Amino acid sequence: MTRARIILKAGRDESLRRRHPWVFTGGIERVEGDPDSGATVDVVTTDGAWRARGAWSPASQMRVRAWTFDEREAVDAAFFRARLERALGMRRALGLDGAEAACRLVNAESDGLPGVIVDRYGPWLACQFLSAGAEFWRATIVEALGELGPWRGLFERSDTDARTKEGLPERVGRLAGDEPPDRVPFVEDGVRYEVDLRRGHKTGFYLDQRENRALLRTLAGGREVLNAFSYTGGFGLAALAGGAARVTNVDSSAEALAQARAHAAVNGFDKARFECVEADVFHHLRRCRDAGSAFDVIVLDPPKFAASAGQVDRAARGYKDINLLAFKLLRPGGLLMTFSCSGHVPPPLFQKIVADAALDAGRDGRIVRFLSQAPDHPVGTAFPEGHYLKGLLCEA
Ligand code: SAH
Repeated sequence: MTRARIILKAGRDESLRRRHPWVFTGGIERVEGDPDSGATVDVVTTDGAWRARGAWSPASQMRVRAWTFDEREAVDAAFFRARLERALGMRRALGLDGAEAACRLVNAESDGLPGVIVDRYGPWLACQFLSAGAEFWRATIVEALGELGPWRGLFERSDTDARTKEGLPERVGRLAGDEPPDRVPFVEDGVRYEVDLRRGHKTGFYLDQRENRALLRTLAGGREVLNAFSYTGGFGLAALAGGAARVTNVDSSAEALAQARAHAAVNGFDKARFECVEADVFHHLRRCRDAGSAFDVIVLDPPKFAASAGQVDRAARGYKDINLLAFKLLRPGGLLMTFSCSGHVPPPLFQKIVADAALDAGRDGRIVRFLSQAPDHPVGTAFPEGHYLKGLLCEA
């Protein structure tokens, strides 16, 4: 069977020439052949010049995601094995894949595997297949991952919005090996955690914040810390490990806070120094302001406020609001560690929002560090979209 060919509109091959992996519907002139969802297609210019080989995704605006920009490279089991080996090798070289550790082994587009996410928690792997192409090669990828073990089991968490956009149903369940326990333990920077692989956010944990938690740990000694949007306590536990006098975690999820308390107990931390408040952060910060509360260190790690370019203005207002309140609650000489994980909010815009917040709070802020995502969440040089997490450590 000959491979289907996707003919681009004239002049629409520039991004592929730059090895950016996405082809949108608007750039396609016509399709030669009748490819199945996820099948491998060649992408060519109107003049027939070969540009990329990728996965066909008929239901998505992102109609093709490129697997390779090398015309001689076949997309087959050996291809996936080689890409996975390279991705795992990089984590090993970074010293991130210890037997009890957790790290992202495969970061989708930025590891040359669009739509494929693999996170490791000790001997367990949590996988997401987020594109038609990833879905098409799922069994091949699972088999290759299995050979790169030893793992106790592979679990699937293909239950995100990205699947819906690709016309794929959500899927959660065991992929290979043993069924994981309800709580999978791992250790980060000496702190013990347990993730719920079946129901936790993402694949269970915010691995992208590892280095920022480690930084907070070095700054928290003797200080009173407010950890807003705490999820299962990550930043708060790191602060306690660093000798914080007291941590207040705030999250709207009772379940996440219950796990935060369980984490404190597993680590033998003093419960009295680890408060958990179930509340909306926007309301809670106002209550703190009205009550005249103050903190030495405040962490703001909200969920993605802008899921699309159209939501950036509203997201900016949200970031401005919480950052302004945080500056007001900060004791003189205090530290604000503030983040945005919205890919649609570029770093300079985030910096501007935080600067405006300091100004309106009447504080003279100083950025002492620019923060980003951990190195197991690399950003492909041809894929700047991979840089989504940015943060600022401000003294004020
Ligand atoms: N800092 C965490 C990850 C935060 S994820 C870590 O390092 O592990 C964002 C969290 O914000 C989620 O737990 C979600 O339940 C919570 N959340 C979302 N909107 C909220 C709101 N308005 N008020 C309080 N919590 C909120």
